[in-house]
Amino acid sequence: MLKIMRKLRGAWRKCAFISTALFVLWAAAVADGAAWAAGRDEIHNPLPVQPLDLVSGRTAAVVIDDFGNNMTGTEEMLNLPIPLTVAVMPFLPSTKQDAERAHQRGHEVIVHMPMEPISGKASWLGPGAILTGLSDEEIIRRVNAAIDEVPHAVGMNNHMGSKATADRRVMRLVLKVCKERGLYFLDSRTNSRSVISEVGKEVGIPIVQNHLFLDDVYKVSHIVKQCRLLEAHLDRHNACVTIGHVGKPGLKTAEALRQYAPRISKKAVFVHISYLVKKQQLQELDSKSIPTN
Ligand SMILES: [Zn+2]
Repeated sequence: MLKIMRKLRGAWRKCAFISTALFVLWAAAVADGAAWAAGRDEIHNPLPVQPLDLVSGRTAAVVIDDFGNNMTGTEEMLNLPIPLTVAVMPFLPSTKQDAERAHQRGHEVIVHMPMEPISGKASWLGPGAILTGLSDEEIIRRVNAAIDEVPHAVGMNNHMGSKATADRRVMRLVLKVCKERGLYFLDSRTNSRSVISEVGKEVGIPIVQNHLFLDDVYKVSHIVKQCRLLEAHLDRHNACVTIGHVGKPGLKTAEALRQYAPRISKKAVFVHISYLVKKQQLQELDSKSIPTN
């Protein structure tokens, strides 16, 4: 009996610790949002920070890909009144400038790593791409060089990559470098056969997955439809990760996000991807620490 009581007390303590940690993380995200909004007050008209909703605790993470090449919509995206995760391609004319500006405006910066697709033009990939035919050494060198190239990067996601993200050898090497450099990986899910999640577990690196592309079709009607899907997803799930782009759809996507942000912020708090990573790590710790029998 005494043994059982001790076990229960231990489990309760661990549970209390995890709950407290999750609460602190959540409060930090909201405080971060408030500080972020305050910092932008002078230039823009930020959304009011929503009251803490501990019951739903819902979060939306908006990632914008393809920065680094003076793409259309760059300014409009960086000026959006929500915290974004900004994915910047390495070795391009505005790589450093876009990463610096995103960081100054309180957005999170990640490396948008060009990776080999099953089909598509090689010119779409950009310099320093990860190709499945490269040697182990060259892949490691290219991933490190890309991380060095993007200031303030705390994570990485794939640009294209339907072929490379399904290749175990390639992904093991890419994810090992990310782990060494302290970066998380966001799987853009350009291929349903991606091995990133599986290899990520093996390597021991946090992986987050994209749920929804906002602008895979460049029409306003499609982008608006995707924004509604994002809203609907948040009715049924605690978190939604969504990816949009600067470039061809940039202006349209920025405008749709500006219009939909107030509606979405009634259902969820906008967060950076690193918030979801920390939450995931705490939940994993939680499931490991409490015995099920
Ligand atoms: Zn891309």
